[in-house]
Amino acid sequence: MILVSSCLAGLEVRYNSTHSLNKEIHKLVDENKAVTICPELLGGFSTPREPAEIVGGDGGDVLDGKAAVIEKSGKDVTELYIKGAYAALKKAKEINASVVVLKENSPSCGSSMIYNGEFKGKKIVGNGVTSALLKRNGVKVISEEKFLKDFL
Ligand code: SF4
Repeated sequence: MILVSSCLAGLEVRYNSTHSLNKEIHKLVDENKAVTICPELLGGFSTPREPAEIVGGDGGDVLDGKAAVIEKSGKDVTELYIKGAYAALKKAKEINASVVVLKENSPSCGSSMIYNGEFKGKKIVGNGVTSALLKRNGVKVISEEKFLKDFL
């Protein structure tokens, strides 16, 4: 079974109530080959919500207490992001996910690139909080771009 970011399957769960539909991933869900997860909703957020970025590092640094997840208005929401990451890990283990396909660039789901914490649209190499936790626990995580290129 594959675990995928809910927004990739077309669910309007992004901070601004939009989705990031990828038709191939939606098809996998339709065919019961994949199940969806949104770490931010699992962490306790609702939609819409403020955009947030990791400040001071990446998701691994957040898990190590060296960086924080901050909303655009300045509120520290690190704990909710960590809570969502652990919920995603629990789900990945429950379904024995062979691979987890997560939306690139997100502070939760990014698996190779994230925004740099300045809210200026600049990206850096790094993991979101959920991707970092999953990888640390031996779960295979890839972006939707890599999944479509290498797995389909
Ligand atoms: Fe999509 Fe992940 Fe953001 Fe949820 S947390 S909206 S699944 S990128």
